[in-house]
Amino acid sequence: MSAADSFRRTKIIFTLGPATESEEMLEKMIRGGADIVRLNMAHANHDWTRTVIRRIRAVSTRVGREVAVMMDIKGPEIRTGDLAAPIELIAGEIFDFTVKPGAGREKGEEIRSVDVNYQNLVNDIKVGDTVLVDNGLLRLEVLAKDEAHIRCRVLIPGPLSSRRHINLPGVKVNLPAFTEKDRGDTLVGLEEGIDFVALSFVREAKDVEQLRDFLTAQKSKARIIAKIEDQSAILHLDEIVRACDGLMVARGDLGIECPFEDLPVIQRRAVRACLSQGRPVIVATHMLESMITQPVPTRAEITDVANAVYEFADCVMLSGETTVGKYPLECVQMLDKIARRIEAEDDLEGREPAVFTGERMKVLHSAVVLANEIPHSKILTFTRHGFMANGLAALRPVSAPILAITPFVELLRQLRLLRAVDPFVMPFAAEPDATIENAIALLRRAGRIAPGDKLIIATDIVSQDRLVDSIQLRTVS
Ligand code: PEP
Repeated sequence: MSAADSFRRTKIIFTLGPATESEEMLEKMIRGGADIVRLNMAHANHDWTRTVIRRIRAVSTRVGREVAVMMDIKGPEIRTGDLAAPIELIAGEIFDFTVKPGAGREKGEEIRSVDVNYQNLVNDIKVGDTVLVDNGLLRLEVLAKDEAHIRCRVLIPGPLSSRRHINLPGVKVNLPAFTEKDRGDTLVGLEEGIDFVALSFVREAKDVEQLRDFLTAQKSKARIIAKIEDQSAILHLDEIVRACDGLMVARGDLGIECPFEDLPVIQRRAVRACLSQGRPVIVATHMLESMITQPVPTRAEITDVANAVYEFADCVMLSGETTVGKYPLECVQMLDKIARRIEAEDDLEGREPAVFTGERMKVLHSAVVLANEIPHSKILTFTRHGFMANGLAALRPVSAPILAITPFVELLRQLRLLRAVDPFVMPFAAEPDATIENAIALLRRAGRIAPGDKLIIATDIVSQDRLVDSIQLRTVS
């Protein structure tokens, strides 16, 4: 076992909802070890969003632990329209999706139908395509189409109620990546100082670039998390990873849009693509699904969480478990416990850190090599823009935590995303050496280092009026 200190390397994201939005629960979740709070804008209005972000900030300050806020915007989404009452689709039944509400029918035609909120669907979809409704619970095959209707046969029957989500595996949907609703939601988030924007259904790099342009125009430093959820994202994985600041393997929709047996392969490929390009990666959805109603997870869920830690993911994420679940705090405690246990293993197999060519990254690489060679050592770094901390985290030290000191609380919150990074906020002194001494004192007070600890310090120092990257090895006195 190697990760001997009490710090958990893998970060925990939870989704806020009725089960966790009270001050009391938020405090418990933050004290319990949550690092990032996710707001799912598919279920949020602007008043609620403003209220809860302010509450998260207030509780963080009171607890003395600043967590980050991730706004997850809905992206392009196709839904069924309203139905007066739920209907039961029957296997083999012929059923229409109507893209022009009120469009006429052939005389005497007795075909049941539901409206769809996307008119252009008739142009994107082909005969033979599959339509999945309500998280894949209903499956239909397209038989024919005209400008108003998409005629299907029901393959997997079941109940259909109003405003259900539609998935179209393999269909290139020509909806904009960043919708008007996303724009409105993001503006509210930026006013409230969100730390991350998670963009849903990213299909190619230009989707990320569109959001990047918007954030730049708004002078925002929020970081972009690209959610990969469909086959197009898998096809363009490397360019998406390059374009984003972090990736989310959104297994909920991925498991509907792709053959389910491909899901573990996609997860592994996505995590590796992020590791090789030095981008943080989040494994999301159904991690502890059974804990929505039960106080303990299934053995398979424990192994799934462990697998994400073995793969060296940066974060694991909770969704329904903490929005509507009965045991949200227990879920965070469970992730915490499993992650610590796996991190204590020596043979984390998936460790394939990035290979970087730039000179500064080579210096950081040397720091990580040193940390991996010196038992129980800790890395200490100083970061104004996140470069040093991001770079060190991307190099995936085997067990050394990365103590990252920044003068900016906004950056501290963004560093919560990164595996093994333990961030602290502290003003920098004029002299780098004084900054190091101050940081050592701060970390001793916080109980993060103790006399005798070996510190590998990666920082810039002033030499002949120039900043020079340096690595120092010090023993805490
Ligand atoms: C997912 O599909 O796994 C996911 C995280 O996205 P959402 O919750 O927005 O559907």
